[in-house]
Amino acid sequence: MASKDKDLSLVDYRQRLIYFKDADAERNSMIHVKETVLTALSATACQFLRQGLTEKLEQAQIGFRQISLDLESERGQRRILQSRVEDLEALTNRPGFILVLIDADADDYAFHEKFLSRNEAGGRDAADELQARTKDYVKNVKLDAENTDITVRAYAGLKSLRSACVRNGRMKESSSMSLFAHGFNQRQALFDFVDVGPGKEGADNKVRECLNLFVEFWGCKHIVLGACHDSGYASFLGKFAGDVSIRDRITLLHGDTIHLRIAELGFTETLRLKSVFATHKTSAVPRVFANARVSATPISPSASVAASSVKHPFNPAALTDRFGIVFRDDTGKRVDKLLGVDANTPYVNYLRQANMCGWYYLRGKCDGCDRNHVPLPLKAREFDCLWFLVRHGLCFKVRKGKDCDDPKCIYGHEEGLPIGSVTG
Ligand SMILES: [Zn+2]
Ligand SMILES: [Zn+2]
Repeated sequence: MASKDKDLSLVDYRQRLIYFKDADAERNSMIHVKETVLTALSATACQFLRQGLTEKLEQAQIGFRQISLDLESERGQRRILQSRVEDLEALTNRPGFILVLIDADADDYAFHEKFLSRNEAGGRDAADELQARTKDYVKNVKLDAENTDITVRAYAGLKSLRSACVRNGRMKESSSMSLFAHGFNQRQALFDFVDVGPGKEGADNKVRECLNLFVEFWGCKHIVLGACHDSGYASFLGKFAGDVSIRDRITLLHGDTIHLRIAELGFTETLRLKSVFATHKTSAVPRVFANARVSATPISPSASVAASSVKHPFNPAALTDRFGIVFRDDTGKRVDKLLGVDANTPYVNYLRQANMCGWYYLRGKCDGCDRNHVPLPLKAREFDCLWFLVRHGLCFKVRKGKDCDDPKCIYGHEEGLPIGSVTG
C-alpha cells in the first residue's frame, strides 16, 4: 500500500480530498435530516398526546356535570320520599279505629230479647251496650281507649232473621227488626246494622269482603270478628292466621260456640259479650267450646246425680269404641292411653264452659245431672278433648286406693298426675 501511495499524484490527492469532503457533507446532511425528522415526530406525538388528554378531560368534565345533576335530582327525590314517609308515619300513628264485624245472621250473634223486642229503643240500647263493652275491651289489645273510634258492621237478612228470632222466642211477634236496626244505626254514627236481603250467603260475603279490605287498611288497628260459628269461614280465616302481624290484630268474638276448625287456626284473642248477645235457646250444644280455663275439679257423677234425678236416654252417638282396652304397666298398675290432644290448643280451653256431661257424651249413659245432654254426635277429636278434660278428675276407685278395671272408665287413673298420659 505504501509503495502504492508513493505512486499517487497530486491530482489524485486532490480528487480524494474532494471525495472525502463530499462524503462528510453528505453524512452531515443525513444527520441533520434525521434530527429534523425526529424533532418533527416528537412534536406530533406530543400533539396527539395533548389532544387525547384534552378530550378525556372534556369527557370527564361532562360526566362530572351529569353526575352532579343526577345527584341533585336524587337529593330532590329523597326529600320528597322523606316527606311522604313522615306523612305516612304521622297517619299510622294516629289512633285509628277498631272494627267490630259481625255475621248477624248467625244464632251466636243474635242480640238479647230485651233489645230485639223494643224496636228503636232496643236498637239504641243495644248500640250503647256494644259500644261500652267494646270500649272496655280496647284496653286489652293495647289501644288508646279514649282516642280509638269504634265502628260496627253487622250484616243480616233482616226478614229471615226476624222470623228466626220470633220462632226462638228472642223477639216478640209484634216487634220490628227494621225499627231495631234504625235505632241501632242512628245511635252511633259509625254503627251499621245492614240488611243484606234474602239469601244464605249475603251476610257471609259481606263479612269476607270487609275483612279482606280492613286487614290491609292502616287506620284499622284491630278487628273483633263475629264469624266463628261456621266452618265455612275456616279456610278463609286460615290465610290470616298464618300471618302473625294480621292474626294478632284479630279477636274472635264468639257466642256459645267457636267451630272446631276455626279454634284450631291459632288465633289467640277471644271475646264473649254476654250482655249484648244472647245464649242459645234452641238446639245447639257447642260443637266447640266457649271460653273457660281448664279446672282441676273432678266431674263427679255423684255430685251431678244429686243435682238432678232425670235419666237421660242412651246416647247412641257416643264413640265408646275409643275407650279400647285397659293398659297396665310392669307393676300391674293401670295407666291411661295417650289421647294425642294438644293441651295448648284453644278449643281445649274453651271446652269446659260447654258444660257437657262426660258420662253422656263419652259413655253414652247418664243417670241424671244438670250438665248438657243435647243429642249431638261428637267427632273423634272432640270426643278425645272432652275425655282429656274429664280425666282431670281422678277415678274414685283410685282415690280409695283400689284398682279400676272398667275399660269405659272416663276418669284419670294416675295419681298425682290426673291428666297424665296426654300429649302436650
Ligand atoms: Zn249427665
Ligand atoms: Zn276408673
